[in-house]
Amino acid sequence: MISMNHTKTFKGGVHPKEKKGLTENLSFEEMPNPKQVIIPLTQHLGKPAKPIVKKGSEVLAGEIIAEQDGFISAPVHSPVSGKVSKITAGSTVIGFPKDAIVIESNKINEIVLMPSLDPEIVTAEEIRERVKLAGIVGQGGAAFPTYVKLSPPNDKKIDIIILNGCECEPYLTRDYRLMIERTNDVINGLRLIMKAVGVSKGAVGIEDNKPEAIKKLKEAVKNFPDISIEVLETKYPQGAEKMLIKAVTGKEVPPGKLPFDIGVVIQNIGTAISIYDAVVKGEPQITTAITVSGLGINQPKNLIARVGTPLADILDYCGGVKENAVKVVVGGPMMGVAQYDFSAPVMKATSGILVLTEAEINDYEETPCLRCGKCVEACPLYLIPTKLARLSAIEKFEDAEQLGITVCMECGTCTYTCPANLPLVQWIRFGKQRVMTLQRERELA
Ligand code: SF4
Ligand code: SF4
Repeated sequence: MISMNHTKTFKGGVHPKEKKGLTENLSFEEMPNPKQVIIPLTQHLGKPAKPIVKKGSEVLAGEIIAEQDGFISAPVHSPVSGKVSKITAGSTVIGFPKDAIVIESNKINEIVLMPSLDPEIVTAEEIRERVKLAGIVGQGGAAFPTYVKLSPPNDKKIDIIILNGCECEPYLTRDYRLMIERTNDVINGLRLIMKAVGVSKGAVGIEDNKPEAIKKLKEAVKNFPDISIEVLETKYPQGAEKMLIKAVTGKEVPPGKLPFDIGVVIQNIGTAISIYDAVVKGEPQITTAITVSGLGINQPKNLIARVGTPLADILDYCGGVKENAVKVVVGGPMMGVAQYDFSAPVMKATSGILVLTEAEINDYEETPCLRCGKCVEACPLYLIPTKLARLSAIEKFEDAEQLGITVCMECGTCTYTCPANLPLVQWIRFGKQRVMTLQRERELA
């Protein structure tokens, strides 16, 4: 079934400049292995993986070097062949130092693969087990271990799997290129997810600024009547889970609930490909697809890089940064994290590296609130960002809690839309963390 509805969307949101032209027509390049990789043990939500190698261990690419520890955790594989030189705390692109296994590469390129499984006869249990063994985590930002999302609780009936093909953050084009270059694998990955969860209905939600990918996806699902391609308005944050679900199904995820609770599982485009590669080719998740862009990098690219490659190596491979570069961000410009230590490595869920110039960053003077109400109009979750930010700044956390601060998904739409350039999401993030600490203290009291 092919949806003809081209106007599906959600209330609120903003239209930042897309800035995808620097990389949208560039095919993926495979980056050569770096001399050294740094593999954080926490590349996912949940408990860190437990190392099973030590200093001096010889490892092969694709071999497990740290085991899953607990239900919400994921194993970590060596992305290269070589020798473990140390296990130490190091910088990460998510902003917190984490323990990591450092491996010196010996330049042997062979990868240890798992046996290939036939996608037509593989069972749901075998898919979930393979996804777990391959260490696959969500590539949409939160890095949730994927096998957990493929194992919904028995009392939750799932009706539909939605692949998130929106890629609504400016600059980023990796999901777009994956949909163009590996269209059939995206759809076959979705079919494996549907089988694993026991669901007969699937959809790909994609913004209407990607006509070539839409055409290819529609062609690829011609023989799969249970999969629809849902063309959505181009608007930020269309790719946020709750917004995507609203646009595709018309249903809302109630505050404090998860997509599971209304019968939906969302997966990212890159995750679907990783699942396909793990099942059909036997590959563990040892590479990541990233967009390197911004006016401050000499050669913007879409790259396949080994997990654990330091940012500095990737920036060098892209011709180095220009003299007028002022900021490096990992992720998109709306939700990404500014970087200060370029020895930090890319991780399984890293989707982009942006090198921005002064002209590109919204670095204007703040002014007092103009009471224009634009942030309230734009908030997709019907919050009052101006009040939440103010209450956080004056430490009235209980009042902010009453106004639903914990519901905020930190999308940054309010900050983007504010003509006074107030750091709304930054204050809200601070207030939300404090409220969540208060809530935990109350629970323990
Ligand atoms: S960051 Fe929070 S308050 Fe601001 S627009 Fe997004 S959800 Fe609303
Ligand atoms: S958008 Fe900015 S200036 Fe306008 S009401 Fe919200 S905080 Fe104030």
